[in-house]
Amino acid sequence: MTPPAGAADPFQTDGMPTDRELNPHLKLTQRGEAPATPNPGYARITETPTPHVVIPRHRLFANSSQRQLAAALMEPDIYVILIPYGGGRSFNARVPNFGESVRTLLDTFLFGTQTEPEDMDIVKILPASEQEPRVGESLSFQQPWGWLLRCGRDLRRWLLWMERISAGINKTFSIYPLNYFEDSWKIATLSADIITPNTSHARALEILGNVKKTCWANTQFKKYVVDMSRKNKSNLSPQEALVQATSSWELVPADHKDHLGKLTRVYILTGRPLSTDDKERQTWVALINSVDTVWVGVHKIDMKTYQNRISCTWCKSDLHCAHACPVAKVEDWYGPDPASAEPEPAVGGRRVDEEALQEDSEAQEAIWGTVSRGKKRNSRGDNSRGRGGGRVGRGRTRG
Ligand SMILES: [Zn+2]
Repeated sequence: MTPPAGAADPFQTDGMPTDRELNPHLKLTQRGEAPATPNPGYARITETPTPHVVIPRHRLFANSSQRQLAAALMEPDIYVILIPYGGGRSFNARVPNFGESVRTLLDTFLFGTQTEPEDMDIVKILPASEQEPRVGESLSFQQPWGWLLRCGRDLRRWLLWMERISAGINKTFSIYPLNYFEDSWKIATLSADIITPNTSHARALEILGNVKKTCWANTQFKKYVVDMSRKNKSNLSPQEALVQATSSWELVPADHKDHLGKLTRVYILTGRPLSTDDKERQTWVALINSVDTVWVGVHKIDMKTYQNRISCTWCKSDLHCAHACPVAKVEDWYGPDPASAEPEPAVGGRRVDEEALQEDSEAQEAIWGTVSRGKKRNSRGDNSRGRGGGRVGRGRTRG
């Protein structure tokens, strides 16, 4: 197990994981200096910061009208995107007046000497087409989830700083900019017989070491890291580049809940992307997910089964499932409560979609009521693929 003298050791843990202060998944809303805040109005909103949720551009805009987005992206400093908490088909059907109720709420936020609300525009993002959903897409949860908002400068700044407004069951949403898109640090999702709620920290580090070891030994992985290192004009040796590329890696526990309510503990591998380019980052993630099988002694680590199954239909995070959404756990939360909408275990009948998404949409329906499933027959019941992120809105994400 001991590496030869001078060689890098994938099991070395001193000073790791690095860059935690940059890890977007560990951040809360309301970061940095507060901008001008509106005068106290009559709206009761959540004041406590809640977890910051990363929604990469390709996920945010999957299945959105490109024509409409292009028009908004022409004015990225004027528009912001609102993502309703639990947004999706069930939500849209149940809360058709979301735009109006949000507008009424926002009208109460006045700044300084302002006495009248500023001119405002709020419009639903339209789907790319009315065609049947892509394979693996949950109907209730299907994108687009968001709305575009154009409003005054002070309100825009304050909303972006707040990041999430919770003012009632139908008035809870997060706010995302159009002039900056964040990358998720999620890389892979690991499951195995040795990954349980009782797995020790030492065992988790052993698993992580073996993941690194397997990646380091992979020719394509090594080539990608060395190429990126050269591109960034670094003077690191190939071995140092491998250590640096994976020094931020850590395993984050999450629980997947199946259609019978059975929980499976998984570890989500997170790490700092080597590039800010969406396409390059996705190449990196794909590479890691296609390296040779990771083994820990006699135990095989599965990196395929759960990769696209950990995803929250409430806040849209891809690091937890709906039943475990941490966003709604603050004391002064006024939005829907995922915990009070736990789905009943399946009794008889066959579920087409066994993924967590199905569970989540049922949990949402417990709050928002049943939505017509008329199009359900279109579902091909094939959930072997993910939600196909990455087809839309790739390319440069900044500037
Ligand atoms: Zn969530």
